[in-house]
Amino acid sequence: MPSPTIIWFRQDLRLSDQAALAAAAQAGPVIPLYILDDESPRQWAMGGASRWWLHHSLASLDEQLRAKGSRLILRRGRCVDVLAQVAKDSGAQVVHAIRHHEPWWRNAEKAVARQIDLRLHDGGLLLPVEAVRTGGGTPYRIYTPFSRAVMLHMPPAPPQPAPQRIDAPLHWPVSDRLEDWKLLPRDPDWASGFSADWSPGEDGAKRYLDSFLGEVGDYAVARDLPSQEGTSRLSPHLHFGEISPAKVWHRVAQAPGDATVYLKELIWRDYAHNQVWALPTYGSENAQPAFDAMHWRDLREARGDWAAWKQGRTGYPIVDAGMRQLWQTGWMHNRVRMIAASFLIKHLLIDWRHGARWFWDTLVDADYANNSVNWQWVAGSGVDANLFTRIMAPLTQSDKFGAADYIRQWVPELAHLDDRVIHDPDFHGVRPASYPEKRIGHREGRERALTAYRQMKG
Ligand code: FAD
Repeated sequence: MPSPTIIWFRQDLRLSDQAALAAAAQAGPVIPLYILDDESPRQWAMGGASRWWLHHSLASLDEQLRAKGSRLILRRGRCVDVLAQVAKDSGAQVVHAIRHHEPWWRNAEKAVARQIDLRLHDGGLLLPVEAVRTGGGTPYRIYTPFSRAVMLHMPPAPPQPAPQRIDAPLHWPVSDRLEDWKLLPRDPDWASGFSADWSPGEDGAKRYLDSFLGEVGDYAVARDLPSQEGTSRLSPHLHFGEISPAKVWHRVAQAPGDATVYLKELIWRDYAHNQVWALPTYGSENAQPAFDAMHWRDLREARGDWAAWKQGRTGYPIVDAGMRQLWQTGWMHNRVRMIAASFLIKHLLIDWRHGARWFWDTLVDADYANNSVNWQWVAGSGVDANLFTRIMAPLTQSDKFGAADYIRQWVPELAHLDDRVIHDPDFHGVRPASYPEKRIGHREGRERALTAYRQMKG
C-alpha cells in the first residue's frame, strides 16, 4: 500500500471542484484533515457565528466523505505541529491544500512548507491573486479596471466533479469528536434562529445556488431592495469554500437573464482578496494613512451609542432592522450593511475598526478580505473607497429602497406603521414608547462627521 497523502481542509470544505482533494485522491490513499487552530498567534480569531457555521459544515463534509468510504479527521492545535505529527504517525510525505490569502494562513503555509512537502492549489477565487496586472506591471488597486481585466480572463476553467473514489489509508489517525470542540453556543444559545435560515455544507450551497438561478434576471434591481429575497445568499458558502466561485460563475452565467451585475459582485470578492494580499493589515490599519489623524470618539465616552448600534436601538428603523437581522440570523442585506456601517462611522463617529470587529463576530459569512475592504470602502479610508464626505442619509435610503416590509419584519414595535411613516416614526410623531428616540439627528450627525473630517485634513 503506498503511503497516504494529507488533504488539509480550511476554507474549502467541499469535494467537487477541489483541486487539492483531486490531487491527493489521484496519488493514492488520502487522510482528510481539518485542524482547529486557536493557538497560533492570530489577530482575528474565528468569531462566534463563524464557529456555529463551521460546526455544521464539518459535520456535512464528514458525511460526504463517509459516503465515499473516507472520513474527516479532526485535530486541535497549531497547524504546523498537527500536520507534522499526523504526517509522522501516518508516513504521509505530502500535504495538498488550497491556497488562502488571509495573513494568518499565509504565515501557516510558510511554517508548514518548512517542515513538509506542501503543495498549494488555486481554487478559492476566480483567478489566482495578482494574475491580472496593470499596463505598468503592478497589481490593480482600483476595482473598476481590475474588474475589466478579470473579465478578459473569464469564464474560469470549468468546474471539476468530486473524485469518484477517495481511498482510505491502512490505519486512520485518531480524531477529536466534533462535539468536544464546543463550537456551538450554549447558555445562551444565541444562534437558535440560524438553522431556520441556513444549511451549511456543500449540499446546502447547491440548493441556494439552484434556487437563485431563476432570479438572476431580476438581480440588478432586486439586490438593492432589502424587503425582497433578491440576492443569492451564497456568501457564507463561498467563504467556507463549500462551493467554488468558478462553479457559481458557470451556473449563473448560463441561467436565463443578464448575469453581468451578479458576476461583477463575484469579482468584488476577488478584488477584496487581492487587496488583502497586497496589504495584509487591511483589517486593522487605514489603507489611506491620512485617516490615522481622524479623531474618532472614544468608545467609553460613546458607549451608549455603541451599545444602541449593536442592539439595533438607534432610533433609525433601517439601521435597527439590519442590526437585528444580523443578530438573529448571522447575515445582513448588503444595502443595509452599507447604511448601518455608514451610520456607525459617520453619524456616531465611531472608528470603523470597532464595527468591523462586531461584524466579524456576528456574521456567518465573516470574511477577512470582504469585511475589511468593505468597511474601509464605507469609511473612505480604503485603497478604493467612497468619499468620507458622501454621507448616506439613512432615512432617505430606507424610503428609496422600499425597506418598509423589512423594517416590519425585524422591528416588531413598528410593524403597525404604514409605509409613509415607518422610515421615520419620530418625525411623524408616531413613535411608540417601546421604540427608542434617535440617538442623534441626521443633520447634527452629518455636521459633526464633516467637522471631524475637516480637522483630520488639517
Ligand atoms: P450576492 O449579492 O448574491 O453576491 C454574490 C456574492 O458576491 C456574495 O456571496 C459575495 O461572495 C460576493 N459579493 C457581493 N458583494 C460583495 C462586496 N461588496 N464585496 C465583496 N464581495 C461581494 N461579504 C462577505 O462575504 N463577508 C463579509 O464579512 C462582509 N462584510 C461586509 C461588511 C460591510 C460593511 C459591507 C458593506 C459589506 C460586506 N460584505 C461582506 C459584502 C456583501 O455585503 C456580502 O457579500 C453580501 O451581502 C452577501 O450576500 P449574498 O451572498 O446574497 O450576495
